Amino acid sequence: MKALPDGPLALPEGASKPPVIEFRGVGLTYPGPPPVEALRPGNLRVESGEFVTIVGPSGSGKSTFLNIAGLLDAPTSGTYMLDGIDTGALGDAGRTALRGRRIGFVFQSFHLLSHRSAQENVALAMLYNAVPRRERLPRAREVLQRVGLGHRVDALPPRLSGGERQRVAIARALVGNPSLLLCDEPTGNLDTANAQTVLRLLDELHQDGMTVLVITHDPQVALRGGRTVSIRDGALSERAEHPEAIT
Ligand code: ADP
Repeated sequence: MKALPDGPLALPEGASKPPVIEFRGVGLTYPGPPPVEALRPGNLRVESGEFVTIVGPSGSGKSTFLNIAGLLDAPTSGTYMLDGIDTGALGDAGRTALRGRRIGFVFQSFHLLSHRSAQENVALAMLYNAVPRRERLPRAREVLQRVGLGHRVDALPPRLSGGERQRVAIARALVGNPSLLLCDEPTGNLDTANAQTVLRLLDELHQDGMTVLVITHDPQVALRGGRTVSIRDGALSERAEHPEAIT
C-alpha cells in the first residue's frame, strides 16, 4: 500500500513528533443533577504510529473517552494536547477545524449514503476541506485502492459486503490524511470473516505509520493493538502486562 502525499505518513524519517494524544489529568463529570464522573481525571499518551486499543464494558466510559479524544466534547478537567496543540485553548470553531484536519472517525455503523457509489461517498468527505473539486474523485479512487477496494469504486453500498462497507468508511476517514484514526467498535456490525478483513486493514495501516486508536468492548479485538488500555468505572489503566487476561 502506498502512503498518501502531504499527510502524517509522508513526514521525513526521524522527524521528532509530539504525542498524537496526550491527556494530562483529563476527566469529565456530567453536571447532572446528580453529577456523574464518567471519566476520572487521568493521563494517557499515544505516540505517533502506535496502535492502541481501549477496552471496557458497557457503561465504563468508552463513549465519554471517544467524545473527548475526538474533540466532540471538552473535558471538565485537565489538558488535552492533540499533536502538541492545547485543545483547551481553542474555541468551538478551532476545535471543529482541528477535528476535521487531524481525526478520521470510523464508527460501528458505516454511515454511508446508499445511493452514492463508494467513490462518491469517499469524495463527499472532501466537501469541506481544501481539496479542489476536480481532484476529489481521483483522490477518492486512490484511497479506495489503498484499502483494497480499487475494483469496487463504482459499487453502491447495498451491493457491498459489511466488511467492504467498513473499508469504504475507513477510506473516507483516511482521505483527509488525518494524524489519528479513531475507531469506535469498528467490527461491531460484522461477522467474524468480515471483522478479520477490517482488523487486518487496520494492522496494515498501522504498519504504514498511521496512528490507530480502537475503542471496543470486545477483548479479542482489543488484543489486536500493540498496547491495550482498559477503562473501568471511568478510570483508564494500562493493561499491557497480561493482555490475554482481559475480560
Ligand atoms: P460506555 O460508552 O462505556 O458504555 P459512557 O461513556 O456512555 O460508557 O458512560 C459512562 C457513564 O456516564 C455511565 O455511567 C453513563 O450512565 C454516564 N453518562 C453518559 N452520558 C451521560 C450524560 N449525558 N449525562 C449523565 N451521565 C452520562
